[in-house]
Amino acid sequence: MHVVVLGAGVVGVTTAYYLAERGHEVTIVDRALSVASATSHANGAQLSYSYTDSLARPEFVPKIPSLMLGLDPAIRVRTLGNFALYPWGIHFLAQCTNAKARDNTIAVLQIALRSARLIAELQDELGLEFSYRRAGKLVVLGDDAALESARARRELKLQHGCVTEVLTPQEAIEMEPALGAMRQEIAGAVYSEHDEVGDAEAFSVELGDWLQSNRGVTFRPGTEVTGIRRDAGRLAAIRTAAGELACDAAVVCLGPWSQAFLRPLGIDPLIYPVRGYSVTLPPGPVAPTISVTNIKRRIVYSRIKGQVRIAGFADFVGFDVRADDERLELLLQIARELAPEAADYGVADKQSWGGFRPVTPSSRPVVGASKIPGLYLNVGHGVLGWTLACATAQDVASAVGQK
Ligand SMILES: Cc1cc2nc3c(=O)[nH]c(=O)nc-3n(C[C@H](O)[C@H](O)[C@H](O)COP(=O)(O)OP(=O)(O)OC[C@H]3O[C@@H](n4cnc5c(N)ncnc54)[C@H](O)[C@@H]3O)c2cc1C
Repeated sequence: MHVVVLGAGVVGVTTAYYLAERGHEVTIVDRALSVASATSHANGAQLSYSYTDSLARPEFVPKIPSLMLGLDPAIRVRTLGNFALYPWGIHFLAQCTNAKARDNTIAVLQIALRSARLIAELQDELGLEFSYRRAGKLVVLGDDAALESARARRELKLQHGCVTEVLTPQEAIEMEPALGAMRQEIAGAVYSEHDEVGDAEAFSVELGDWLQSNRGVTFRPGTEVTGIRRDAGRLAAIRTAAGELACDAAVVCLGPWSQAFLRPLGIDPLIYPVRGYSVTLPPGPVAPTISVTNIKRRIVYSRIKGQVRIAGFADFVGFDVRADDERLELLLQIARELAPEAADYGVADKQSWGGFRPVTPSSRPVVGASKIPGLYLNVGHGVLGWTLACATAQDVASAVGQK
């Protein structure tokens, strides 16, 4: 079959890989000129197989008024004119029960654990250069309530084969000295030895090159996808600004823009673009070697390419990027306050970036056949797209041609 993959982020490129492995002829189309230039470009770099806790949880509900009032510096919510937020928010609230939070966390955990095996297999076979390393991860918790609920989730995950360890503040700081300056804010931490780091952009670029050289995959950059053409109800071609691409099937991997593409087709995966930011800096004298996630401050530190990547924040402002400079400044300020010696914050050449996480109300990606025969979805990977990419790509590739 000739299969067109829409979108060349980490999800699109891994989808192309598993499709090509199944013997399909694959074309990848993206409006950008290069692979992984959008959400997959400079994310937190964490392959966070163990921390799959769903965003929608009962504890989140009482925090909503203070978030709407702008009292958490790490979250911005625009209420006026932000029409896409309301239907998404209603579905998100419906997921904020204990039962749903548990099911969503485990569903994503199972995808993540499978992804861990697949990325290791892929790497054994292809040997790509993307700063891939078993760094381990420390999730720092700011108060006793957060620690207690993390303990409960730890037990739950253990039943599904995910082994993590709860540490005291002292144990966490001994393990990762970069946490020393945030000692006052640490009630405890969860350590996962098996979590990894890697540069999602380098992975996607290397895998894209390998696919073109070794599997005859065609990449059509600079090509805006505009819609589809059907023949007797079945997908017959992808419409692009440069003309039609006839195909037997297509997989939508348009990340946060999937919603805009799918809604006119009567498909609503309920994806909201949640803005986050990153800066990449030279390491400081006490740079972390273990990945660190500070839940309360919504900030992560990772070590890749010999540098320190700091990412975080969650802004519900639609596709608005006007406050980026201000938000990046605040991210740097908080990162420095929490871990002053982790990075060289004063360096002139700060690599700053912002991206839109494609978040569904349940935190679960939407993967598989759509209601249009021949059109498949691999969308809505949210805060964990890099972590989940290999497993969802394998799933969608095996669904293609089945229906
Ligand atoms: C600040 C931040 C930190 C993060 N940290 C982590 C982390 O540590 N670990 C983790 O696992 N995940 C992390 N994520 C999430 C992860 O980056 C995303 O889930 C993932 O990159 C989504 O990949 P994607 O391929 O679906 O989307 P994208 O990478 O955005 O790819 C979609 C592609 O579609 C193209 N496109 C869109 N519309 C059109 C059109 N009409 N025509 C043609 N092309 C089009 C775009 O150009 C783009 O290349 C983070 C995200 C952010 C923002």
